[in-house]
Amino acid sequence: MKLLVVGGAGYIGAVTVELLLAQNHEVVVLDNLCRGHEPAVPSKAKFFKGDMGSAEDLNEIFKSGKIDAVMHFGALSLVGQSVEQPALYFRNNVTHGMTLLDVMIANGVKKFVFSSTASVYGEPHSSPITEDFPLIPSSPYGDSKLAYEKILKWYANAYGLMYTALRYFNVAGATETIGEDHEPETHLIPLVLQAARGARPHITIFGDDYPTPDGTGIRDYIHVKDLAAAHLLAVEALKTPGQNSIYNLGSGKGFSVKEIIEVARQVTGKAIPVEVGPRRAGDPSILIASSQKIQDELGWAPKYGALETIIGDAWKWHQKYPNGYGREQANV
Ligand code: UDP
Repeated sequence: MKLLVVGGAGYIGAVTVELLLAQNHEVVVLDNLCRGHEPAVPSKAKFFKGDMGSAEDLNEIFKSGKIDAVMHFGALSLVGQSVEQPALYFRNNVTHGMTLLDVMIANGVKKFVFSSTASVYGEPHSSPITEDFPLIPSSPYGDSKLAYEKILKWYANAYGLMYTALRYFNVAGATETIGEDHEPETHLIPLVLQAARGARPHITIFGDDYPTPDGTGIRDYIHVKDLAAAHLLAVEALKTPGQNSIYNLGSGKGFSVKEIIEVARQVTGKAIPVEVGPRRAGDPSILIASSQKIQDELGWAPKYGALETIIGDAWKWHQKYPNGYGREQANV
């Protein structure tokens, strides 16, 4: 297949590009580099710096050779920032994302894999979470993703779009060459590893008074390589006009913030100083996925789900690229 990967210079997008290339698919990456890093794009992919909100940029790609399918990772994804700047989030994640769909359809491209999120569930009543749980996002970020899922459904109905929306839980880990390099970094595992390296004085636990066994928040961590594999299965399964599916993606096990820090201490052999701070606004206490549906329907199964593997791979990457991408050691 020849695939367009929008947001392929970002963390999850670039890992997926790497996998697609390893499976001998042809890949064009479109990324405006507002969050992504050009050195993260594997050299065998064709890189196009541009915007999914620009029909001109998109047409240039679609006219330059037949594209069989599109994977869309090109969203803004910071919950807190989305509360401060909802216009930015709805414009990028919904309006610009619609331009992408419209230009696709106009060029006869109908296969689409979308990066959705567990944030569409808001604060769920229980775990594990199945796809039929109530959809009550508690941020503009989650709402923008849900709005886009709804748009996809109607596009499938009217235009025969075939799509899979993957609702990610907590993604972590790395490949040999691609890892997490966000600015600002807000995610637990990279922050814990920064503390392990001494790049920050300590990790702050956001609240230890949650209704969980050790009082800290519980999340379902999935290895980015397992997530990339799900994208490949998803696109390969798209065959019939209008067909559409939504799947949760996690490892099916929950770990608390304290458990993550403890495993990180074992994996890194470092002390990792900790401070306890207040809760972060909007953080649910427990989010654990049921990924049964994608296991049953697409045969997906996490291969790298052990926490030691997820944190160990992230640690290797952080040691290899202590300053992230774009610096002297990052030339992948
Ligand atoms: N967390 C924390 N300290 C940090 C960052 C995160 O205690 O510096 C907690 C957060 O409250 C949540 C978990 O770690 O319970 C995972 O947070 P992350 O931001 O990685 O992902 P989220 O679940 O918010 O998507």
